[in-house]
Amino acid sequence: MTKSIKYLLLTAVIILGVVSMPNQEVFAQKKKKKTETTAAAAPAPEKKPEKKKLEDVVKGHEKFEGLFTFYQDTTSGELKMLISKEQLGNEYLYFSQIGDGVTEAGNFRGSYGENKIFKIERYFNRVEFVSQNTSYYFDPENPLSRSADANISPGIMASAKIEFDDPEKGLILIKADNLFLKETFSQIKRPSYPGESPTAFKLGNLDSEKTKVLAVRNYEKNTDLAVEYVYTNPSVLNGGSEAVTDGRNVSIKVFHSLIELPDNGYEPRFDDPRVGYFTTKVTDMTATSPTPYRDLIHRWDLRKKDPNAAVSEPVEPIVWWIENSTPHEWRETIKNAVLEWNKAFEKAGFKNAVQVKIQPDDADWDAGDIRYNVLRWTSSPNPPFGGYGPSFVNPRTGQILGADIMLEFVYHTNRVVYDKVFGEESAMDTESGNWHNGHFCTVGTNLQHNMMFGQAFLRAHGASELEMEGMKQEAMAELLMHEVGHTLGLNHNMKASQLFSPDQLADKNFINGKALTGSVMDYIAINLAPDKANQGHYFSTTVGPYDIWAIQAGYTPVNNQKELDAILALSTKPEHTFGNDADDMRSPGKAIDPRVMIGDLSNDQIAYSIHMMETSKKLMGGIKEKFSKEGQSYEELTQAFSVLMGQHATAGGVISRFIGGVYVDRAMVGQEGGTQPFTPVSLKDQKRALDALNKYMFAPNAYEIPDDLVNYLSRQRRGFDFFSGPEDPKIHQRVLNSQKNVLAHLTHPNTLQRMVDSELYGNQYNVATFMNDLTKAIFDADINGNVNSFRQNLQIEYVNMLKGMVSGPTSNRYNHLAKSAALYNLNYIKGKAGNGTGNVASRGHKEHVRLLIDNTLKEVK
Ligand SMILES: [Zn+2]
Repeated sequence: MTKSIKYLLLTAVIILGVVSMPNQEVFAQKKKKKTETTAAAAPAPEKKPEKKKLEDVVKGHEKFEGLFTFYQDTTSGELKMLISKEQLGNEYLYFSQIGDGVTEAGNFRGSYGENKIFKIERYFNRVEFVSQNTSYYFDPENPLSRSADANISPGIMASAKIEFDDPEKGLILIKADNLFLKETFSQIKRPSYPGESPTAFKLGNLDSEKTKVLAVRNYEKNTDLAVEYVYTNPSVLNGGSEAVTDGRNVSIKVFHSLIELPDNGYEPRFDDPRVGYFTTKVTDMTATSPTPYRDLIHRWDLRKKDPNAAVSEPVEPIVWWIENSTPHEWRETIKNAVLEWNKAFEKAGFKNAVQVKIQPDDADWDAGDIRYNVLRWTSSPNPPFGGYGPSFVNPRTGQILGADIMLEFVYHTNRVVYDKVFGEESAMDTESGNWHNGHFCTVGTNLQHNMMFGQAFLRAHGASELEMEGMKQEAMAELLMHEVGHTLGLNHNMKASQLFSPDQLADKNFINGKALTGSVMDYIAINLAPDKANQGHYFSTTVGPYDIWAIQAGYTPVNNQKELDAILALSTKPEHTFGNDADDMRSPGKAIDPRVMIGDLSNDQIAYSIHMMETSKKLMGGIKEKFSKEGQSYEELTQAFSVLMGQHATAGGVISRFIGGVYVDRAMVGQEGGTQPFTPVSLKDQKRALDALNKYMFAPNAYEIPDDLVNYLSRQRRGFDFFSGPEDPKIHQRVLNSQKNVLAHLTHPNTLQRMVDSELYGNQYNVATFMNDLTKAIFDADINGNVNSFRQNLQIEYVNMLKGMVSGPTSNRYNHLAKSAALYNLNYIKGKAGNGTGNVASRGHKEHVRLLIDNTLKEVK
């Protein structure tokens, strides 16, 4: 894909070059003639024809001096770039960022694009822009390094004809429009994915007439160009959301930055699997080690002003600017949250490493200026997430050169962003939403759901406005600390919620002033004390012990590897436990360690999740009264219901991961405090998890939604808009979606495979027993009598899942033992369902079940 685009681009550049040549000749001839006429009229002075000077070529151009000097024709807007001899062959950094876009195109304000090294090379009368490969390392002492370029393709992004050449001054001038008005340096229009709906929103073709340079900002060490790319389409089927003014003409504003690489003696630090940093992957091609990794962690270049002091101010601190668009009442909370990280840096030997300033209202710089790290606020349509903390680095060293944090207003309001609420498919998946960057983060969404759950809880307890405000401020502080953590180089630690027991969390004196989890880089459930009088912090208000240790591992200045190893050896302390979302535990079947999970809390996640489900159920009884306001529609009540149902579903997901789960320990061989890498979850806990799922998700009375609530779940009409379907509450589908999500994990080929394999090393819950327990949970309570509507749905769904395990294309993914278990259970259900008991609906249902099973058994070969 990328290759063919590059090829097309190259072809386009060449064609343009060819076409423009005759025109230039004509122009030159005309000019010559004119000169001749003039010469004939006046007496000819004996003068050698003067060589063309740079000043002549750029006459009538505006000059932008900086790292690369640019000239812009004041009539046509044409852009020219001046390159000096010294710049040829040097490495520079290219970085792009979206100034403004549309969410459905995967480009939105502040999203970071490509970040790569390139060189400018001369080839006869042309210059080439060549992107460099940074994925491999060759020891320069090793003779193999002579063939370091073997089978590694460089990327020639563009080849431009030299317009003017001054060998004496060592200057060359090229036309730059093709570099910046096309997708030369980075791909902006996202590719379509296989299986993507043909009616999905798409950008049209890049329109070269409408695409234009908006601004050139030039500085000593970086040249920034703001470009408005316009994509046109003669007719569109899907014109996008209301944020797209005209689907046929869509603008994406991009900042391109060409940056001088810092030559500062920064010392790279290599990645260690026990602590979670973002990395640039580098493989050592001359190493003989089984792990020839030289993955560079992303971190700032912090150095002590006083290298001998135990704690010193840094030579250059990390300075954050609060954008002037930030609501005034939040600025203090934001500032304090950012500065919390200084607690971690102090343990790494730095005082005041992080500083916070406020962008003046009349600042002469834009928040998109890469020289400033800005905490930015927007209130945009269809926000992809509540917070996003990207950074850009030097891929040769891993040094972070700049960062921003994007925050969305809607996630701090009481407005549910409906398509993001649990049980309803998100309009944008993680991949297409931020398709060229791995820093995707949805902690804002998670925190908002928790905040709204907390609100329902507080309202039910008649809490004061002050108390409500305090809870929201804690949520905002946690969000800010989390996003700042990303910009310091830290990735997620979804295992950090293991820090305290449910009892400790429910003790306000114990928890006061402490972080609730080992790390703010987790996505946790809100801390709600069963006894309201003992309610402590709802969210973390300070960084956790893992955060402090991770900053030590990444930033403490060390003299040798031994000193660093001593810090890393502390990874086995329980409070330093770490597991990131590399396997994406959000999706059923992906997780293996149930402790690495989102939406959970405490070192007894099953107990805490049960507490959350019970709280949700209890609150359900009171929301009609608490969330119906005289003179208003039932919109707020409907939102509250969604939040409670969502929290219940999340808790069920957390519990499901224990079944077939395996705990992972990444301690090194012989490390103090380490255990074996894999330890299966105990039989007791697997059974406890299934019992909880049975009681709270599968049982006939699991969902006791008050009858007199459902007929009030009405959204406020807006014009002709009834959102994505008829307006009536679809309770059965909602419940079934939660149940399906859990079953998808329990019957996932990976889960069942692991149950079989882990029997070899300690798992005592074999797949046959488990499957039969699950079947009993779903059928036994009512198969001999009336089956209610929720259970009918669940039972049919489950039979269909068993069917998928033994027949059809999905069955290939299951191991033979799992298939046998599925067949056994289909027969078990068939035997039970033939009793002809119950009311007419139940009898019909049982016949349906039997027919499905009969047909399935016929298909099994
Ligand atoms: Zn995050």
